[in-house]
Amino acid sequence: MTGLAEVEVPPVALERLASLLPPERVERIGAYASAARQLLAGRTVWNVSSTARGGGVAEMLHTLVAYAAGTGIAIRWLVIGGDQDFFAVTKRVHNRLHGVPGDGGALDAAARATYDATLARLADDLVDLVQPGDVVLLHDPQTAGLAGRLRERGAYVVWRCHVGLDESNEWTQEAWGFLEDLVAPAHACVFSREEFAPDWVDRRWLRIIPPSLDPFSPKNAEMSPEEVEALVHRAGLVVEGPPLPSAAPLVLQVSRWDRLKDMAGVLEAFAVHLDDLPPDVHLVLAGPEASGVADDPEAAEVLAECRDRWRSLAPSARGRTHLVSVPMDDLDANARTVNALQRRATVVVQKSLAEGFGLTVTEPMWKSRPVVAAAVGGIRDQVEHGVSGLLLDDPRDGAGLAAALASLLGDEDRRREIGRAAHERVRDHYLADRHLVQYVDLFTQLLD
Ligand code: UDP
Repeated sequence: MTGLAEVEVPPVALERLASLLPPERVERIGAYASAARQLLAGRTVWNVSSTARGGGVAEMLHTLVAYAAGTGIAIRWLVIGGDQDFFAVTKRVHNRLHGVPGDGGALDAAARATYDATLARLADDLVDLVQPGDVVLLHDPQTAGLAGRLRERGAYVVWRCHVGLDESNEWTQEAWGFLEDLVAPAHACVFSREEFAPDWVDRRWLRIIPPSLDPFSPKNAEMSPEEVEALVHRAGLVVEGPPLPSAAPLVLQVSRWDRLKDMAGVLEAFAVHLDDLPPDVHLVLAGPEASGVADDPEAAEVLAECRDRWRSLAPSARGRTHLVSVPMDDLDANARTVNALQRRATVVVQKSLAEGFGLTVTEPMWKSRPVVAAAVGGIRDQVEHGVSGLLLDDPRDGAGLAAALASLLGDEDRRREIGRAAHERVRDHYLADRHLVQYVDLFTQLLD
């Protein structure tokens, strides 16, 4: 696909979320919903992103667009298409914003020309749809280059960047150099953490809005133990390793097949420290079917590397480690499978080397699962170490990961206590009402 495609999201009434909220939050979101209806009357709010499935941005847009539409706001979501060369360039920008070179290719004039040519074509289509006075949220580097044409069209443009690194380095600087003049026409920028925003972002129009999850989506909704069991043991899920065990404790990491998620590092740490862990514990690494994420050209390669690594393990480790590839053709089934795996897990790991914000941390926390996660980027806000999860200071410290896992696997009371605090943390900070309120505040200031 090379043009624009619309993602249809059925509206969801806010009342559904309200059933989980304390009365003052129900009142607040009700007041904001009517303010938003007034403010946005006659306008459309557009979201433009690079994929409808696989990854946190897609996950979140399904939630936010559904609830916003449920309040009666005109909101639409378009996904951009591009060829391989375009997504190779944008993945390079993405990796560099996380502080690593990625495929090592250059972000030079040729890369910029590839990027500009794709976005110029998309902008031609987009300006026919967007009307003056509409609000457009452009998500991530893939869409940043649309800001100029949309502003000329008379739209209010917000660039929403979901990635970043706390401390800049030569790679982040190069990526920000690539993006600076593309982002400049945007009226406002939104980041998940203040530290991610480069110096040149106008602080008056910088907003910090962390992501959120939907407790009622197929990814997070309650599930019976029978359904969990059936989904987890579905044929064809495991691509390397024996079938998943029925009763044994499970350690799980769910991620896209992206080197920054360090799936191979989790496998390595588990295998090397197998003897330090309870003798019956298994590891599951689960990610989307590699061909299923349109904007991620590295996925197949990273999955292949993990499979190679798995094949080279000692038989004792192979018997207790499983690589799972979750089919992407049916999004609902994909989400329910991830949901089931997270509910089946005894402990969930997120050993990312860099992370803007990890929904794969928030999702198991909502399910009262104890999480062991690297203290990088947004994860540092999501988890309070020792209270709502455990943080690893050094994401590359395999021995530290194994020690944290051993301590949790050996202490059911602590797991329960941390799981309870984790659930409360998500309820208090990472549900959609807070997220929507922050956007309405921004739109109010923008349209003032
Ligand atoms: N995810 C999924 N299927 C998979 C792997 C991941 O649905 O096989 C989802 C995961 O549950 C989460 C999102 O993709 O909702 C990943 O978001 P996160 O913020 O953790 O990281 P990102 O992929 O955006 O870097």
